[in-house]
Amino acid sequence: MTTNPPESRWSLACRDLGFPCEWELRARPLPEVESRFRDHARCAHALAEVGPELSAKLAAARRPS
Ligand SMILES: [Zn+2]
Repeated sequence: MTTNPPESRWSLACRDLGFPCEWELRARPLPEVESRFRDHARCAHALAEVGPELSAKLAAARRPS
């Protein structure tokens, strides 16, 4: 589960974070997943900030691909 190196490719689906949204992301490296999601959340969901709770959800929802 945590055996993938941070350099591997990650995918993340917005709906897995609880949004009624079809947006999906593939990114590498890992910090880009969070920063790209932050941009999306701001634009698409009027979410000014990804707080610790959402950040934790994000960490659980992202998958190596
Ligand atoms: Zn979304």
